[in-house]
Amino acid sequence: MNKLVEIVIPAHNEEHNIPVIYSAIHNAIAETNYDFKVLFVDDGSTDGTLEAIHVLSAHHDNVFYISLSRNFGHQNALKAGLDASSADLVIMMDADMQHPPALIPSLLRAHEEGYDVVYTVRKDNEHISFAKKHTANLFYKLMNYLSEMEIEPGSADFRLMNRKTLDALLSMPDQEIFYRGLVKWIGFKQTKIEYEPQARHTGVTKYSTKKMLKFAITGIATFSNKPLYFAAYMGFTFAILSVLYIPYIIYAFYSGTEVHGWASIVATLAFFGGIILMMLGIVGIYLGKLFEQSKNRPQYLVKAAKL
Ligand code: UDP
Ligand code: MG
Repeated sequence: MNKLVEIVIPAHNEEHNIPVIYSAIHNAIAETNYDFKVLFVDDGSTDGTLEAIHVLSAHHDNVFYISLSRNFGHQNALKAGLDASSADLVIMMDADMQHPPALIPSLLRAHEEGYDVVYTVRKDNEHISFAKKHTANLFYKLMNYLSEMEIEPGSADFRLMNRKTLDALLSMPDQEIFYRGLVKWIGFKQTKIEYEPQARHTGVTKYSTKKMLKFAITGIATFSNKPLYFAAYMGFTFAILSVLYIPYIIYAFYSGTEVHGWASIVATLAFFGGIILMMLGIVGIYLGKLFEQSKNRPQYLVKAAKL
């Protein structure tokens, strides 16, 4: 009997990509000795994504789905799919064909060589915009500097995991999920495969600049405490510097020139005001994460499912 591979695909407004990715997966896996099933996670789509999945699932008995009650975001949608998966091997990938299904046989070969996790790293090519390339590289540099982990630039949420590692991943209590970090964190035997990203098949990116920024901040704040230390060091440095300023104030008082100091006072106030707000912001971000974690709400709610 062939092993079963479950392919988990979060989709938010991807109606035209659903049939395309299914047939691409079907073709990719035909030459392997595996059976497969596809689990789509409709992440609160407002277009015909769910209908497209219904149609596909009516025609193919290896198509399943979960439909979330609203848009919970890519990482949470992915979690919904992973929580529901039962196969020994799970592959997670995007719905827009940017993660080439033709790579699936290579992922399976690496699994056969004994790897528990086979992750992929995107090579930058003409299908990746200038802005995306550079913001992503900057993010990974910052992330690797701030956290104890080394996440490779271009790491994608396109990976194969076996049951053992998936169970480990799903046992993590993180309320705000950053899978690229969590998968690295769990360890086990991991290997990477590089891929050439394709252009999005249809539609536009579902990661707005705002979502991308939030994702980046979650990644950093859930894997590093260094920004808090940075805030403390910065406060300490300025406190010392301001002590050095006292002799000048005394001198100015006795020489009767203190009224001329207006511009410098306003400049200092504005500068310190900015710094204080920034530090409060950093502390606030962590407090917010703690708040989210302590509420312990479900990360997604299911509206309908065929499992
Ligand atoms: N996605 C999702 N929920 C969201 C945003 C995105 O399920 O709120 C899905 C999307 O349909 C796609 C994958 O996550 O399958 C990656 O999103 P996208 O391709 O828009 O991101 P990009 O490749 O531009 O970074
Ligand atoms: Mg994409």
